[in-house]
Amino acid sequence: MAQTQKAVGRNGKRTNGRSASSRPSVKTYNNYIGGEWVPSAGGEIFENINPADTRDVVGRFALSTEDDINRAVDAAATAAAHWRRTPAPRRAEILFRVGEILIRNKSQYAAEMTREMGKVLKETGGDVQEAIDCTYFAAGEGRRLHGFTTPAEMPDKFAMCVRQPVGLCGLITPWNFPMAIPSWKLLPALICGNTVVIKPAEDTPLSTVNLVEACAEAGVPAGVVNLVTGYGEAVGAPLVKHKDVRLISFTGSTETGRTVAAGCAERNAIPALEMGGKNVQIVMDDADIDLAIEGAVWGAFGTTGQRCTATSRIVVHKKVYRQFTKKLIERAEGLRIGNGADPKTDVGPVINADAVHKIMGYIEIGEREDGAKLALGGKRLTRGEHARGFFIEPTVFTDVAPEMRIAQEEIFGPVTAVIPADSLDQAVEIANGVRYGLSAAIYTRDVNRAFHAMNEMYTGIFYINSATIGAEVHLPFGGTKATGNGHREAGTQVLDIFTEWKSVYIDYSGRLQRAQIDQAEPQ
Ligand code: ADP
Repeated sequence: MAQTQKAVGRNGKRTNGRSASSRPSVKTYNNYIGGEWVPSAGGEIFENINPADTRDVVGRFALSTEDDINRAVDAAATAAAHWRRTPAPRRAEILFRVGEILIRNKSQYAAEMTREMGKVLKETGGDVQEAIDCTYFAAGEGRRLHGFTTPAEMPDKFAMCVRQPVGLCGLITPWNFPMAIPSWKLLPALICGNTVVIKPAEDTPLSTVNLVEACAEAGVPAGVVNLVTGYGEAVGAPLVKHKDVRLISFTGSTETGRTVAAGCAERNAIPALEMGGKNVQIVMDDADIDLAIEGAVWGAFGTTGQRCTATSRIVVHKKVYRQFTKKLIERAEGLRIGNGADPKTDVGPVINADAVHKIMGYIEIGEREDGAKLALGGKRLTRGEHARGFFIEPTVFTDVAPEMRIAQEEIFGPVTAVIPADSLDQAVEIANGVRYGLSAAIYTRDVNRAFHAMNEMYTGIFYINSATIGAEVHLPFGGTKATGNGHREAGTQVLDIFTEWKSVYIDYSGRLQRAQIDQAEPQ
């Protein structure tokens, strides 16, 4: 470690009042630029802290600035022509090797992810698996990347459309899926022939370092993938405004997404945004209640409620309302909160002190709402095994009215709001009555009700008799309204983010044939 490096904790604060140099066993991770692992230009670092135990420093990472972004963008620009001209099936061969490396290192990556992000090992294993699935899916596209042919309107003329890479892509990612979300962006961008600069969330850089290391080991050429770690304002913002970055693919909060979109608009870059959610599970009176409870508990408290698809509202038909809420509380009460590395843990910590502050703030807001009842949880755990981490009890509010803030705003923590409804139509109206449109679910045994709800819900994802969380990589992922700006990640639809269409006309008539001219004979 260079002598000039300083320890800077989360949000720029020194962590635990100790400098990094007093913990020499902690590993330092650099930026990856032009095929080299290099310290930040200013030589500064920040610490990545385990949210289950803040004494545990997971690693030290390059605290980067605009200078580092400029270097990374230059490297990506230099590598662009060669990578774009590499045939897609050859690019795919490298990506298949990335998948093999991820499989080989899966348990190590999962353990490191639990340490830096907090979620339980089964979920971090799932996160790495999602990256593996995404890698193979993207690599498979290397032998497709389909365009199309279509008849031309004139004789002896051929018409087709081909995909071309967008160019240099900036990828900005959040902390809740620290390898899966970077993989959703990185691998499709690469198979399409783009070069990238990726800026992972400051809370979880290690999982992205692992993904980029796998790319380097697999033989992705120098400069094609570049990684710059650091904070949003210092590193994300200069990436958004860099004149050579053609597209920004962003996942994070709706507020930051709006800033990213505005930055892109100023220089006509393309923003592809995935943002917040206020997802809903509808439970009808004919539902399998036990199944609906399992879905609700998993959807609301899986990943400690820190998924953009988390079940933060449950709209329940009045006929089964009492039965449902009683069982939900009994079931959620039994969840074990603790360090995600312990196999007995069901619910890990939340990500950091700011998250504790925000979530506890919403719990207070819910308690003050006239009519809503705090039926379970509501407290931060600060004793014994929970003393050093960011632990909040699974929390259930009942008798919530649809317009209350806890039923409208994204909390991003282990808090769910149960709302009674008289009918399917009212349930759908409540379900649609938020600014977001990511994921919705209905539990019913009536196929007519299920299809009616599917048709009426204005969301990007819809589940029948299954929780609001659990997307698969070969289906498009994204949402309506304040959740997104019309793009979809995953599936083959992601190719429309990372390529642009080129329409090609081939005239083999040997004469000038004019289009956009009225061919009709004058009357
Ligand atoms: P969350 O609230 O989930 O942490 P954010 O939207 O703040 O979500 O962060 C998502 C990603 O966006 C992170 O990598 C973060 O560093 C980055 N980011 C934050 N602010 C900005 C900004 N002004 N410009 C670009 N990226 C930013």
